[in-house]
Amino acid sequence: MTTASMGFDVIVVGAGIMGSCAAYAAASRGARVLLLERFDLLHHRGSSHGESRTIRATYTQPHYPPMVRLSARLWAEAQDEAGYRVLTPTPHVDMGPRDEPALAAAIRNGGAAQVADTGSAWPWAGVFQVPDGWTAAVSEFGGVMKATKAVAMFQALAARKGAVVKDRAEVVHVTKRGEGSILVRTANGEEFHGAKCIITVGAWSTKLIKSVTGMDLPVQPLHTLICYWKAKPGHEHEITVEAGFPTFASYGVPYIYSTPAMEFPGLIKIAMHGGPPCDPDSRDWSMGGAALVEPVAQWIDAVMPAHVETAGGPVIRQSCMYSMTPDEDFVIDYLGGEFGKDVVIGAGFSGHGFKMGPAVGRILAEMAMDGEARTAAEAGVDLSQLKIARFVNNPKGNLKDAADQL
Ligand SMILES: Cc1cc2nc3c(=O)[nH]c(=O)nc-3n(C[C@H](O)[C@H](O)[C@H](O)COP(=O)(O)OP(=O)(O)OC[C@H]3O[C@@H](n4cnc5c(N)ncnc54)[C@H](O)[C@@H]3O)c2cc1C
Repeated sequence: MTTASMGFDVIVVGAGIMGSCAAYAAASRGARVLLLERFDLLHHRGSSHGESRTIRATYTQPHYPPMVRLSARLWAEAQDEAGYRVLTPTPHVDMGPRDEPALAAAIRNGGAAQVADTGSAWPWAGVFQVPDGWTAAVSEFGGVMKATKAVAMFQALAARKGAVVKDRAEVVHVTKRGEGSILVRTANGEEFHGAKCIITVGAWSTKLIKSVTGMDLPVQPLHTLICYWKAKPGHEHEITVEAGFPTFASYGVPYIYSTPAMEFPGLIKIAMHGGPPCDPDSRDWSMGGAALVEPVAQWIDAVMPAHVETAGGPVIRQSCMYSMTPDEDFVIDYLGGEFGKDVVIGAGFSGHGFKMGPAVGRILAEMAMDGEARTAAEAGVDLSQLKIARFVNNPKGNLKDAADQL
């Protein structure tokens, strides 16, 4: 029997971290799963590729820490099942202006320990020159995920559970044939039948949802840059994972994030959140260079001048895409309309979704298979903020003021 003539319980469209985790979660439950990816598996044209992503529980919005903690449990279970590690635990530091409401909320919601005297009372006082009027907070909970390796792990685990994983298969049509009967058609004319469908197409979400339902989903693709900077001579070891150096985030404008030296010895990843709008089908790979590099260099010169070299710019730059919603909250919902509960969408992960991939995958799979996300409810994860309806008559969704961001 060919893949096209088989019937599936769940068809997952898009094999980034979200789709790969959803395929694994559904296949683990015994569902017959098909995972379709438009490009080659593990390609670099979306949002889930690369060497590192951070995990932290310090979130301005209170609905994310429970999802992060559920995800941490699921990361651990998946690693145990795979037999290898993709997540390296580290401490995490948040810093920024003391009167920044988003930072205060993140520290509170994440249960981080505020460092009272930023001049001396914390382990990295000699590394960060925290400006006057700033504060910093340390969390024991944090870590670095190997991004591409993690996506590959979930694809391998899904396949081990019986999922069919098919790349170079661009989905162009999703139509409903009847209750619990979805037809998925690819650009090369193949057709697949599934009882349920999960759509996780990252920066292509707006285009695909528009063509499927006519709905305008406010997910804006952004071009962004990952930058690696050289440690100053003599400081190469101090900023490594092995030396216990933390991931960190610096609030305000620009919002800066970092992972310790790990993948490229002697280099630390420090980058800024955001970037210019882009079309995922016609990208200018050099776009936004200076605007995404110079603010980071200025931040380094102000906060880590003794430890990180900015002369000559970053040693390595890698491009990536965000799928931004106006409020930076995810979209996790049923497509509704004629599709009712037969099609589930996970989109708009707004530059902070990777850490929650295993939780999102489990939630999407349960929504598709059971009509509700039981694991999320048991873990205290509130999904009510993530519905499409928040944008009806309100283009900003959940956003009320600047403190709601990040
Ligand atoms: C530079 C950068 C740094 C980040 N840092 C962090 C971090 O530190 N911590 C964190 O938690 N998150 C971070 N994120 C965010 C995180 O990486 C994303 O939220 C996450 O990867 C989104 O995954 P996705 O599966 O939704 O999208 P994608 O990975 O883009 O996957 C979507 C997939 O769908 C496929 N597709 C598209 N259209 C079709 C179609 N029609 N048919 C079939 N397949 C299709 C695409 O090819 C793609 O493979 C970062 C993101 C970037 C870019």
